[in-house]
Amino acid sequence: MLGKQGWHFLAHPDSLVTSVFKANYFSLGDFLEAVEGSNSSFVWRSILQSQIVLKHGCRWRVGNGAKIKVWHDPWFNDSDNFYVDSFIVPGCEDLLVKDLMDIEGRNWNFELLHGLFQQRDVAAISSIPISSFGREDIWIWHYAKKGLYIVKSANHVARAVLRDQRNFSTPVCWLKLWKLLISPKLKNFIWRTCRDLLPSRLRLNQRDLQVDQTCVLCGQEEDSVHALLKCPLAIDCWKLIGVDYSRIVYAEFRSWFFSLFQQSNSKCIAKFCAMAWSLWGSRNQLI
Ligand SMILES: [Zn+2]
Repeated sequence: MLGKQGWHFLAHPDSLVTSVFKANYFSLGDFLEAVEGSNSSFVWRSILQSQIVLKHGCRWRVGNGAKIKVWHDPWFNDSDNFYVDSFIVPGCEDLLVKDLMDIEGRNWNFELLHGLFQQRDVAAISSIPISSFGREDIWIWHYAKKGLYIVKSANHVARAVLRDQRNFSTPVCWLKLWKLLISPKLKNFIWRTCRDLLPSRLRLNQRDLQVDQTCVLCGQEEDSVHALLKCPLAIDCWKLIGVDYSRIVYAEFRSWFFSLFQQSNSKCIAKFCAMAWSLWGSRNQLI
């Protein structure tokens, strides 16, 4: 039921109930970006618990593109990742989806898409139909045909999220991650990395996509641990922000990252998230 209330905040941004909660708890963004804050009420804290499920199941459906932030919002029809993967292009931080369309808003500006994004993102954007009636962008529940929130489907997603947390036996770390004061996109990136969903060259080969498995920087086999931790460039970058290389002995990014969670405060963890994101962005710019 409380999940439904969180959904109401997204689907009905102009309702009186949404306005009251928005004024108090998420005045600068939407419900998915809301944080607990101090002096929050019991009801708000309870509703906020549904946020994690909504983050895994809600995304924008593109209409005229006027409300959707290109780099920060979930808007791709891809259940592995609703977000743009490419690194933010300097000077284009505030780009809206409507800016990616031609002047009449009837088609994508493909020249611009190829200039801004890597292949996966260009393909994902190109597959999104543009409304010829210029209808508004709306939030939808990704796992329902008509896009409307369905409690049964949300429960299914909630069970999958819980299963993930149990499988990794470190629910405290997940909770810490969701509470970090970093962008939802960055959280999503870390979450995907921890679940080994990053499209590293090794992973693409495991999915039968024939690509060169070696790292573009050093020629070693590239999985996500290599790209983010063990590549000579990554080692240097971590050293520069004071992370001791001798501690990087893990075979999985998740194990290493969660070990940091136990030893570091939120500010440092946010810095580590940004570094991992930045390393992945640099790597993407080279391929
Ligand atoms: Zn390398």
